[in-house]
Amino acid sequence: MSYSESPLPNQKPDGTPYRIQLDDSILKNQLDPLAFEVLRHGGTERAFTGEYTDTETEGVYNCRACGAELFRSSEKFHSGCGWPSFYAPTKSDAVVLLEDRSLAPRIRTEVRCASCGSHLGHVFEGEGYDVPTDQRWCINSVSLNLQARASNTKPGDS
Ligand SMILES: [Zn+2]
Repeated sequence: MSYSESPLPNQKPDGTPYRIQLDDSILKNQLDPLAFEVLRHGGTERAFTGEYTDTETEGVYNCRACGAELFRSSEKFHSGCGWPSFYAPTKSDAVVLLEDRSLAPRIRTEVRCASCGSHLGHVFEGEGYDVPTDQRWCINSVSLNLQARASNTKPGDS
């Protein structure tokens, strides 16, 4: 796992403060250490270790730091990359995108929660996956909380 020691900025790239200002000293006690490092220090969980990598449970994936809805199981797909992969977020304004030069000269697009600014993962485009957007939103399991769809709904109605 790699991460930077510096806390994430509390405002979006355009200077708007995040709607939810999290207190890291409180969060640190609420989250397990790996989730805290990933969400608040931009770390990455090890490939193929996350609890949601191959999960097919129907439901909604919320931000583990603030609870905002980020992704849905209907846009999740098996990429084989070792992290939960989606082809789109639940709403385009649920997330913010930032240029990540930490692996320069390779430039990646970092994905953060638009409500609280916590780090979620990265998005890659044009890799040729057979998905409607040709995008792979590569998200850490520990950044998410799966809220399974109520079991009394009819199966197969999607
Ligand atoms: Zn959040």
